[in-house]
Amino acid sequence: TTAMANSKFEYVKSFESEDILLPNCWIVVRVDGKGFHKFSKKHEFDKPNDAGALRLMNKAATVVMQEYKDIVIAYGHSDEYSFVLRKETFIYNRRKDKIMTYLNSLFTSAYVYFWKDYFPSLKMKYPPAFDSRVVLYPSDENLRNYLSWRQADCHINNLYNTAFWALVLKGGLSNSEAEKKLSGTVSSDKHEILFKQFDINYNNEPVLYKKGTILLRKAIRHPFHGKRRQVIFPFHEDLIQPAFWDKHTNILLGEVSQFYEYPSKELLP
Ligand code: ATP
Ligand code: ATP
Ligand code: MG
Ligand code: MG
Ligand code: MG
Ligand code: MG
Repeated sequence: TTAMANSKFEYVKSFESEDILLPNCWIVVRVDGKGFHKFSKKHEFDKPNDAGALRLMNKAATVVMQEYKDIVIAYGHSDEYSFVLRKETFIYNRRKDKIMTYLNSLFTSAYVYFWKDYFPSLKMKYPPAFDSRVVLYPSDENLRNYLSWRQADCHINNLYNTAFWALVLKGGLSNSEAEKKLSGTVSSDKHEILFKQFDINYNNEPVLYKKGTILLRKAIRHPFHGKRRQVIFPFHEDLIQPAFWDKHTNILLGEVSQFYEYPSKELLP
């Protein structure tokens, strides 16, 4: 670098600018797949929900959380994931570019790297990309409302998609007929279509689909050697309800992890 530092070209470095994220704010980075409507079609994802694809998203997000210990909670559904860094983090001096691009590219490369574990007999047809953005939330209430907004989005989309694909795959409607049938319907209409026409009780659909996935860092006592260990656990709970925050108190306290008595050894990730 010394040769470069003295070169006549070096002045171009001064054209660079950097955004430093405001202190004392929650930092949210959300990634979202580019054109996943097409990507899911090309790779023949099950509709409305391909479980393998969702688990691959969770795996990629877990890799990101393992690398970046200041992430206290992550939430994902469909082709998106949100990562929340604790307010006090000083990672990369809170440089926006560094934080956003490292999280995004690590997520994307992990998605590609672990593809084979979730789709063992399906070669990826082209390299996927994810966009990302950074949003700052100054209050705990803002942060909770942000996460509630994403989970409400998961719910609304999943109810719509479950009804839509029932009409197409089981009801024999074309895509546009199904779309027409659902236009202007409210939530209770969709529940009723599912129940009356397809004998599907939406409430019994898998929580992975209805609630998305919340990743939390928990301290556990290892079932075999008894030592304390930090593990990232997936939860499919309702984070809109206050009960979630009463239970997982470490998140808003900015404490990295909390002791967790996990229900069974099989659930150990
Ligand atoms: P940072 O995360 O700050 O960028 P870094 O270790 O990536 O740290 P760089 O200044 O980007 O540091 O330098 C990249 C380093 O990667 C080089 O110093 C070199 O050691 C190594 N490297 C990159 N490409 C090659 C290559 N093609 N062959 C051998 N070494 C390489
Ligand atoms: P953009 O580039 O603007 O984000 P997009 O096509 O990715 O466009 P999104 O609004 O992000 O649009 O929606 C993602 C789409 O990806 C969903 O509508 C759905 O069709 C598909 N998809 C994502 N995950 C799954 C999954 N696990 N199973 C089935 N389909 C999925
Ligand atoms: Mg997008
Ligand atoms: Mg997308
Ligand atoms: Mg999306
Ligand atoms: Mg480098």
